[in-house]
Amino acid sequence: MLSVNHAVLRYGVIEALHGISFEIEEGEIVTLLGANGAGKSTTLRMISGLHAPSSGSIVFEGRDVTHVKAHEFSSFGISHVPEGRRIFAQMTVEENLEMGAFRRRGSLTGDIDEIYAMFPILQDRQKQKGANLSGGEQQMLAIGRALMAKPRLLLLDEPSMGLAPKIIQQIFEIISQIRDQGTTVFVVEQNAQQALRLADRGYVMENGRIVFGDSAAKLLDDPRVRAVYLGEPVDS
Ligand code: ATP
Repeated sequence: MLSVNHAVLRYGVIEALHGISFEIEEGEIVTLLGANGAGKSTTLRMISGLHAPSSGSIVFEGRDVTHVKAHEFSSFGISHVPEGRRIFAQMTVEENLEMGAFRRRGSLTGDIDEIYAMFPILQDRQKQKGANLSGGEQQMLAIGRALMAKPRLLLLDEPSMGLAPKIIQQIFEIISQIRDQGTTVFVVEQNAQQALRLADRGYVMENGRIVFGDSAAKLLDDPRVRAVYLGEPVDS
């Protein structure tokens, strides 16, 4: 579905991605793990056209999208839930959801109802402003808003950030449900244990490079992952 090929990305003189390559197959949940500053968010921003690579290519469903701009992306079938959610704080829940579909025509009622079926708490809060929601509700709204664009590929940047374990569990169950309903998911996470339980496959990123990738089950067993990302002592 998506392939990133030898992508190099620079912020001015700083090279943040040093030629990364990876693939996502349709129907998968793939996770990208790595420490702070490894380049995970940059990778998502590159896929969704916010920053173009200076070399390399990105191919989505057989089409070269390397230089497609962010505002064109939702019509290509990719939605991005950024780090920190970025919901519209002064708009209501319902208005936020409508904004997610601003490039589509026709009635949105049925689609909003589908989001409410997935996140019943958002229906209860539909007239409240985004600013008044809890962190977990804001994350649900950010995901719901992204789904309103009817993406085939959903990019999620640290959906568990700052949330209580019970809420994280709920969000991860919903991500699984989103995949079961036919949307492929690429999720950046620092919460490696839970991300690998959720995902089919994972990639590990360090200092702007993808250092390895494997099935989630193998990564959960990999001593390097266990030592660095799951906080286990390394056997000598
Ligand atoms: P985090 O979890 O902390 O967001 P990350 O793995 O997502 O980490 P990135 O945010 O992608 O990492 O950052 C990768 C590198 O690029 C870091 O060295 C960071 O300082 C740098 N960087 C990120 N955004 C910018 C920017 N807008 N301008 C300049 N440098 C940036």
